[in-house]
Amino acid sequence: MIKIHDLYFKPFLTATQINDAVNNLAYQLNRDLANKKPIFLGILNGSYMVMADLTRKFNHDCEIAFLRASSYEGTSSTGELVETLNVDIDLTDRTVVIVEDIVDTGLTVDMLSRKLLKHNPTALHVATLFLKPEVYNRELKIDFVGLNIENKFVVGYGMDYDNLGRNLPELYVQTQRMKNIVLF
Ligand code: 5GP
Repeated sequence: MIKIHDLYFKPFLTATQINDAVNNLAYQLNRDLANKKPIFLGILNGSYMVMADLTRKFNHDCEIAFLRASSYEGTSSTGELVETLNVDIDLTDRTVVIVEDIVDTGLTVDMLSRKLLKHNPTALHVATLFLKPEVYNRELKIDFVGLNIENKFVVGYGMDYDNLGRNLPELYVQTQRMKNIVLF
């Protein structure tokens, strides 16, 4: 069990299990995008780790770029996109793949994809390492998923709780603090 700020987290996925999910995602991208020379567009901050690992497993020509977007404050979605930066790369006639660490309600990728489609890419795909299918509520198709997980708040492997925990190589899930047992 670890404590970050006021919350307690217990181990959820080992580094090996995360690597299996990255391999699964990389397999799908290699299979479907081999000759497309895609632009992988990582959504900061959370996707920095998966971008580094995933793109090293992509065995074809590709470009790497990043955007900043966030809909989360603390441990829950705010329901609106808090922050986005302008897209300063030319996406016209390109195959673009939004790369997310985790998709929850889908608000972030849905809003971003609407924005990016205005740049006239040939194709726009969404790839996420983790998806919470129970709470995903958008029509937008998530094209590539590394692993479906339950609807719990997780930290580690790029994902934070109030800016802490991103550097953890494993994934942890929020839990209730165990009550102290007092023996007399
Ligand atoms: P959505 O817009 O799909 O509701 O949420 C997507 C964004 O919220 C992700 O990019 C991520 O930054 C954040 N997020 C969603 N679920 C979690 C979670 O379980 N843990 C953490 N740390 N961030 C999450």
